[in-house]
Amino acid sequence: MFNKLLIANRSEIAVRVNRTAQALGYRTVAVFSDADRDAPHVRMADEAVRVGPAPAGESYLNIEAILEAARLTGADAVHPGYGFLSENAAFVSACAEHGITFIGPPAHAMELMGSKRRSKEAMAEAGVPTVPGFQSAETDPSPWQKAADGIGYPVMIKASAGGGGRGMRLVHEPDKLADELARARSEAESAFGDGELILEKAIVRPRHIEIQVFADQQGHAIHLGERDCSVQRRHQKVVEEAPSPFVDESMRQAMGDAAVKAAQACGYVGAGTVEFIVDEARNFYFLEMNTRLQVEHPVTEMVTGLDLVALQLRIAAGEPLPLVQDEVRICGHAIEVRLYAEDPAQSYMPQTGPVHSWIPPEGDGIRVDHGISAGMRVTPHYDPMIAKVVASGPDRGMARRRLIRALEDTVLLGVTHNAWFLSRVLAHETFAAGEATTAFLDTEFRDDPSLKPIQATATELAVAALVLYRNEIKADYADRGGWSNSLPSACPMLLNDGHTGTWVRLRDHGSEACITVGDQEHRLVAEDHRDGVLSLSADGVRRACQYQLVDHSLYCHLSGRTLALQDATHAPARRADEQGSGEVRATMDGAVIEVGVAEGDAVQAGQTLAVLEAMKMEHPLKADRDGTISDIRVSAGDQVRNRQVLMTVFVAESPHSKENAE
Ligand code: ADP
Ligand code: ADP
Ligand code: MG
Repeated sequence: MFNKLLIANRSEIAVRVNRTAQALGYRTVAVFSDADRDAPHVRMADEAVRVGPAPAGESYLNIEAILEAARLTGADAVHPGYGFLSENAAFVSACAEHGITFIGPPAHAMELMGSKRRSKEAMAEAGVPTVPGFQSAETDPSPWQKAADGIGYPVMIKASAGGGGRGMRLVHEPDKLADELARARSEAESAFGDGELILEKAIVRPRHIEIQVFADQQGHAIHLGERDCSVQRRHQKVVEEAPSPFVDESMRQAMGDAAVKAAQACGYVGAGTVEFIVDEARNFYFLEMNTRLQVEHPVTEMVTGLDLVALQLRIAAGEPLPLVQDEVRICGHAIEVRLYAEDPAQSYMPQTGPVHSWIPPEGDGIRVDHGISAGMRVTPHYDPMIAKVVASGPDRGMARRRLIRALEDTVLLGVTHNAWFLSRVLAHETFAAGEATTAFLDTEFRDDPSLKPIQATATELAVAALVLYRNEIKADYADRGGWSNSLPSACPMLLNDGHTGTWVRLRDHGSEACITVGDQEHRLVAEDHRDGVLSLSADGVRRACQYQLVDHSLYCHLSGRTLALQDATHAPARRADEQGSGEVRATMDGAVIEVGVAEGDAVQAGQTLAVLEAMKMEHPLKADRDGTISDIRVSAGDQVRNRQVLMTVFVAESPHSKENAE
């Protein structure tokens, strides 16, 4: 029994857990780092305690500080959410020592499932099918080579302690295996503090299908059906749905039985997810078990009508499961997408930045789990996932249609995000047909325009010109005498979409504006104009455009995607043949983890000079021209700000190039 729940997490999942806990009558406590002082998860909770500075290691991962927050507030239970301490067996034991109920499985089950090697062995023993593979403490490559030959190439090397899609390598040829093993071992050692590896057969064009399980303290275990999480980038989920379009009733039963068997074999209690990899012939193999609530739990909630956080709390309080397997009904269909602060056009690189405007979509069957508000910043300290947008409906077609609409209506202005990419993924014929495998994004979807730098269309440029003109230029332009009532002169503007600059001319006729983009003329009428929303008719079609103007940057959301445009009319022109500046700048806020060059080194354009770590990813910083390294201002371990100059690639200037510069 417990009364007050401390939520040891942040952002959308802290908000999500708080909602159910309060609804069930519990008092709640939020914890926050200095970066999250005013975040929604802090404001919603009954009480909140600061647990440290922004870096996760000093705050959300700081076991002492979290336990102290529980002591200060008298919290007698802790919900860990996912990520952070949720799979940390030492934290589970520490909670027990302090008489605090941990909402999750016992430490021994968590420990077992935290090791890919040991969990696989335990599952094989329990009769759950596992991916053909090999594991050994032996570091000499020969037994591994022999095993790989037996399994057949390609093979996958995995860090036994890995997670989050990290620590995995695909090997296609036998003569690369020894090298890759050595590299994987040293990487695993530094990333997870444990060099242990496992080898697995790489399944080609597989689907990732997982089963949600629940077990109570009385020894009952059930499953709540499957989720298909096959659409992935970098082995990380992007789209998740329930039920899976690939699974029929008999397969569901077989997978469900295997998952329940897996939970029972390790004495599991609480919510867990058994992940399977499924081949083209519908054989399924155990991958791993995640011993916590999963990011994609909402799709299961939407098709079962159950509140999974409520079930977790109930089980932790010692009550039995409120239903038996036969009472679990899967009804309709639900699809979730993860809204990330990342740029799909730059290999999904995580992005930091401000949230100038955030209007989550609404509508029948739509659920948005998020923890952001306008005025906040997405910082480099945590996961780049900022929200989950979920849609349900009586069938898959309706859920998919609703989710596309919801994504197109998601207004998030400021930080770069992946909403347009997500809507294109859902609209793709392969996904629509239910045929996406984990290879989908890198194959069929590879040439999609949402994976290229965004190029504004003529209509988007015309609308942007009108917004800029009305907000920034009109008064100015009239003052400068560039305006006459009798014969309106055209106001020229250079709009840069981050890729290309385009000249547009706007002629203001009072109620109507004529805007020329290239050789096309657009007629735009501003029908209604309020704070941040312009309702306009463009060439006879009326619609709304949400926008924010910040320091001559215009963010506008029109027809389902967001554009960031610079008014470059008065910016100095760049020479077409311009070389890189040679300044090596941080691409985001983060920590330098490696400086690979020394002053005086000769380098070539494209060569990696340093590595930055931010948002749980590594980002190589490359030379933008040939030259010699000078002026190194950082070393490994330094925290740096976005755009900070880290070093310079120096080129001895020829008299000719100097002449050109003047
Ligand atoms: P898996 O990929 O192993 O199946 P999930 O897809 O459920 O696991 O994702 C869990 C991961 O999501 C966490 O380990 C963490 O990296 C990330 N994550 C997303 N949002 C948050 C958050 N608010 N706090 C912590 N971790 C988060
Ligand atoms: P993590 O702990 O990082 O979540 P998983 O073992 O769950 O690691 O694998 C993550 C993803 O990597 C899977 O969803 C799948 O897309 C891919 N993957 C893992 N193992 C295999 C395999 N043997 N063959 C093909 N793909 C795999
Ligand atoms: Mg996994």
